[in-house]
Amino acid sequence: MKLANYVMSEWVEGAGAGTPLVDPTTGEELARASSDGIDIAATLNHARATGGPALCAMSFAERAAAIRKIADTLTENRDKYFTIAQANSGNTAIDAMIDIDGGIGTLKYFAAIGKGLGDARLLKDGTMEHLAKDENFRATHILTPRPGVAIHINAFNFPSWGLWEKAAVSLLSGVPVLAKPATATAQLSYEMVRDVVTADVLPAGALSLICGSARDLLDHVTGFDTVAFTGSADTAQGLRANSAVVTNGPRFNVEADSLNTCLLGPDATPGTAEFDLFIREVAREMTVKAGQKCTAIRRALVPAASLDAVAQALEARLAKTVVGNPREEGVTMGPIVNKAQQQSVQDGIATLASETTMVTGADLAPVGADAETGCFVAPTLLRCTDAKNATAVHQVEVFGPVSTLIPYDGKAEAVALAEMGGGSLTASIFTGDDAFAAEATLGLAPRHGRVLVIDESVGKSSTGHGIVMPMCIHGGPGRAGGGEELGGLRGLRFYHQRTAIQGRLDRLEAMTADASELTV
Ligand code: NAP
Repeated sequence: MKLANYVMSEWVEGAGAGTPLVDPTTGEELARASSDGIDIAATLNHARATGGPALCAMSFAERAAAIRKIADTLTENRDKYFTIAQANSGNTAIDAMIDIDGGIGTLKYFAAIGKGLGDARLLKDGTMEHLAKDENFRATHILTPRPGVAIHINAFNFPSWGLWEKAAVSLLSGVPVLAKPATATAQLSYEMVRDVVTADVLPAGALSLICGSARDLLDHVTGFDTVAFTGSADTAQGLRANSAVVTNGPRFNVEADSLNTCLLGPDATPGTAEFDLFIREVAREMTVKAGQKCTAIRRALVPAASLDAVAQALEARLAKTVVGNPREEGVTMGPIVNKAQQQSVQDGIATLASETTMVTGADLAPVGADAETGCFVAPTLLRCTDAKNATAVHQVEVFGPVSTLIPYDGKAEAVALAEMGGGSLTASIFTGDDAFAAEATLGLAPRHGRVLVIDESVGKSSTGHGIVMPMCIHGGPGRAGGGEELGGLRGLRFYHQRTAIQGRLDRLEAMTADASELTV
């Protein structure tokens, strides 16, 4: 089977043999993907000329209704997607739920808030400004959909959520989407887009899909396009330097990798609820999706006095992880996505070995699978006792079930250690001490896009350290890419041009009479 590309409102197979997509549990080839021979410039032009105007002619409520229909179509086919996620991504049922239901839930959320914007096609931002003594000469700010294409380049670990969390916001904004999933796991994105196209819920040109290499994709960007990239910091660096990107200046959002921190408060000693919640969270973040989450906890900061107790508790908890074939009953952690990524995780662990000692890891006997053929890595907990003088621990993102325990002495040191990650997506704090929670939050906030603050009272309700909620901002400064996605209606800003309109008061009022207010 070769995954076709959806370009210029048609399914077109790429030329050549294509790149194989494999089952990381068995090594079996599942499909191939190729974009060779696809006219990417023409695809982008079709989206700009056909999809953009059609979406802009729709009100927010109409676009929201289309987004809701996408969610309903995906819900109808949900079981098929779980089978694909298990095969192509090595997902357990919980892993697949995070990706698939996460994508559907995000679409539903944006459908609901889009409905709330009603029949408007225009957004206004803030109140009328005074510009002169003449009360009649005023200014207002409006938001109009950017007239280009939203080019969405996604990472391998979220072929569903990554696709729909971006598409939902851009379609609601009235901007057509060209999605480019990572080749390794493109089968799920492909099947989902195929079902949505068959359901005929979007205007022509509103959604395009490139399976396989991006090839010359970014060479054709214009200043009106928006590029939302999710992937490694290295790839992001290369794409930012693309000459069309540099010359034409499209809006460019980067969600890159991150050395996320989880901080245990000094009060949260063994026996406290917060200690137990911390242990559960670190172990869960290491093993869900085999640690292949950009938000996963890579550095667990604990008070020096609790280091041994935390290491023992985590070792005991991780020992319960059942690694193996996700089709087998009782398996709680699947493989890494392919051999190349497995090697990269093993190389990363070897690099960290110069600054750490291993608490647990290495031993591996996957259930229902062959350790040689499959791409398995044992949950690996490391310990770094001199983190202030370490570099790799703060710089090398090992994209697998790997985390490092780091002792700290005082809140200022904890914040300084977190900052050594160079800017991250997410931090979490586990403490019952309100003063520590407030100080640590304000210390970590400028260095992170999201901070989760947990005590016993919200332990059960917590959506978790690594889960991105559609109503909250996702992104982080510095190394994490400096981007922002989602955040409810805030996310619409990325796909809109904000323009100051200056002129006669009653004209401005008439122009914006039917506009919806963007109050966030
Ligand atoms: P990657 O190797 O950087 O690839 C990301 C995407 O970029 C893929 O679709 C890839 O396509 C594409 N790409 C590569 N070269 C390109 C080029 N020259 N032009 C256009 N597109 C190009 O990352 P990955 O291995 O898929 O994902 C793992 C990384 O993503 C981790 O570092 C993780 O932290 C990060 N991540 C971040 C977030 C976040 O929200 N911040 C979320 C998930 C993952 P091909 O697959 O065809 O090469």
